Amino acid sequence: MPVINSIAAMKDEMTEWRRDIHMHPELGFEEFRTSNLVAEKLEAWGIEVHRGVGQTGVVGVLKGRGESDKSIGLRADMDALPMQEENDFAYKSKHDGKFHGCGHDGHTTMLLGAAKYLAETKNFDGTVHFIFQPAEEGKGGGKAMIEDGLFDRFASDEVYGMHNWPLLGAGEAGLRTGPMMAAADEFKITIKATGGHAAMPHHTVDPVIIATQIVQGFQTLVSRNTNPLHPAVISVTQMHIGSAFNVIAHDGWMGGTVRTFDESVRDEIETGMARIAKSVADAYGGEAEVFYRRGYPATVNHEKQAEKAARVAEAVLGQGKVDRDIQPVMGAEDFSYMLEKRPGAYIVLGQAGGPSACMVHNPRYDFNDEILPVGASWFATMVETELKRAS
Ligand SMILES: [Zn+2]
Ligand SMILES: [Zn+2]
Repeated sequence: MPVINSIAAMKDEMTEWRRDIHMHPELGFEEFRTSNLVAEKLEAWGIEVHRGVGQTGVVGVLKGRGESDKSIGLRADMDALPMQEENDFAYKSKHDGKFHGCGHDGHTTMLLGAAKYLAETKNFDGTVHFIFQPAEEGKGGGKAMIEDGLFDRFASDEVYGMHNWPLLGAGEAGLRTGPMMAAADEFKITIKATGGHAAMPHHTVDPVIIATQIVQGFQTLVSRNTNPLHPAVISVTQMHIGSAFNVIAHDGWMGGTVRTFDESVRDEIETGMARIAKSVADAYGGEAEVFYRRGYPATVNHEKQAEKAARVAEAVLGQGKVDRDIQPVMGAEDFSYMLEKRPGAYIVLGQAGGPSACMVHNPRYDFNDEILPVGASWFATMVETELKRAS
């Protein structure tokens, strides 16, 4: 059961859709043209369409043959990035500062390809929900859809998602059981001290000293307080203190990001950062205010569903083409919210070897159209396998 023949035959058509979406990128929760294009195609193929789920999200509902009440959710993201494209091919972005630099144009197209094939063949028994979500890049469109009743309105026994992956060759895939992507949080520490003349430090409380000691303290949260077998990153990425060579500032702030896989590690780091910041500032005679904002949770694959996703990927790509123990990534992904609500799995599909050799979020990145039939076949085969008709 390799790439499905009739899907392979749709490659040129899918390439057209993909390049059209690429040319008209839209940012999170502004995917009006894209979601309209998706909805119109689904409707034209006789699929029941629900617009405006989680603002600009679209859900297509397709029932197969037979009486089964089993269901499956397949998810693709639709948004582009707020960055300038540096490619110069004919279908490059028509909108300055907006660019499909993460390949969501490809994800949307692959799920559309699967939807068209499944609507024509209906070789399954049960219900498929095609979930086209907005705003994956930082704005939590996946969460918005869930809060808008996604799984109450479109009950899905299991849910599957996929991302293209330039670090794997086209024709390969990877996943693992457990965390695939990290939780991503942000912090801002405001330091209040007592400024003064830089030549008379004994009359001041120096916020620079406090800030640097806090940064040192944060490093020990990872190296001394976190189980070495549980990965964690604390990166202080900015520090803003002072404005003159000879003045000790009154205050300042610093900020950065925290990445973790394990929820208990995440909790410990959040409370540990507050403890260290406040007590270090206090020890030097100042004060620290800590603001910690939780972003996307970790993307955690469920064991049974990861195995099903891997088996289907192997059926499409061939034996030996699926890495079942791929290294997790400290990046983040809001499919995590769906995996918190439903058993499922997230897989990465190799795309290297095409015209674009660079990583996602690079201004010269482009989705590799060669893998369109592969991804569409994986989605479709997940349905035909999970919702198999009684023979
Ligand atoms: Zn991205
Ligand atoms: Zn992405």
